[in-house]
Amino acid sequence: MALTLPSRDPDRTTVGGRLSVALCVMACTCLSLTFDTASTAQRGSLPSRIRVQVIEQGTTATREIALEEYVSAAAVSEFAPPAGEMALIERMLEIQAIISRTYAVSHLGRHGRDGFDLCSTTHCQLFEPGRLRTSRWAAAAIDAANRTEGQLLRYADQPAEALFHADCGGHTSRAREVWGGPDRDYLVSRPDRGLGDQTHVRWEYRVARSALAKALASDPRTRLEGSLTSIAIARRDDAGRAERIELRSRGTRKEVRGEDFREVLARAFGARAVRSTWFNVKNVGNDAVFAGRGFGHGVGLCQAGALARLAAGAKVRDVIAFYYPGTVVN
Ligand SMILES: [Zn+2]
Ligand SMILES: [Zn+2]
Repeated sequence: MALTLPSRDPDRTTVGGRLSVALCVMACTCLSLTFDTASTAQRGSLPSRIRVQVIEQGTTATREIALEEYVSAAAVSEFAPPAGEMALIERMLEIQAIISRTYAVSHLGRHGRDGFDLCSTTHCQLFEPGRLRTSRWAAAAIDAANRTEGQLLRYADQPAEALFHADCGGHTSRAREVWGGPDRDYLVSRPDRGLGDQTHVRWEYRVARSALAKALASDPRTRLEGSLTSIAIARRDDAGRAERIELRSRGTRKEVRGEDFREVLARAFGARAVRSTWFNVKNVGNDAVFAGRGFGHGVGLCQAGALARLAAGAKVRDVIAFYYPGTVVN
């Protein structure tokens, strides 16, 4: 579900001047959101072990792993701050553990045809078991999995789609606004103000228009006939994210989903270039300048806001209830 950023990254989020965090930056699960309805997780029937494809020394292998071991490793793979206050990190890891477990249990058999349940990349969720040996938060992640053992985020008795992202920029969005397709009642568009407000980041990314045109031409979704002449936001959602982006060349016009546009540019320039679809774009000389808010897709839990809420004294369950209203954890 998340990429973990190098700790030296200058753009990391800082909360309360103390905590720098590596956050979910890409669409991750989101890029391949399927909303499967088959539930393998009715209460009381959690698997004790799951099959995970791991990458070891450049080759892939399938490992059968105890569910809770998987959960602790996935949690610390998805949330790995370079520094922070232990009590706060522990509570954030509890949230990540519940999310990781919910994802694992509701996507068992996603790679069934290949003989395993989940892969270890952001296609499913990031799983780097070595972190349980090397991360300074390994013990905290194991404790977080233990304290939440067996708990899933549920909606109407089914495991929920516990989507999350690094920074909502101040407002979350619905799944349909970001990817099209079905919505979920608990993945809401709402302001993330109050406790979370100080933590949201604004960003700017400047790129030569020639490089931008080349990047967009590299993907059929954003490829135009002839050279790119303009980029405009055709429709925004309630938060302000670009739902539809209009690309023009002389003679042709194409509309692309905002999240597809971001994905294409992330492949070309990295996830930290155009960090979200909540942006304006303008021409400055030979460059295009994007100015935006937040980091990631903006659906579900905002890690930056969640941390700020925990730091201000909110309980784990309050944070979950805020970002996934109507769900229960049990
Ligand atoms: Zn996968
Ligand atoms: Zn937020």
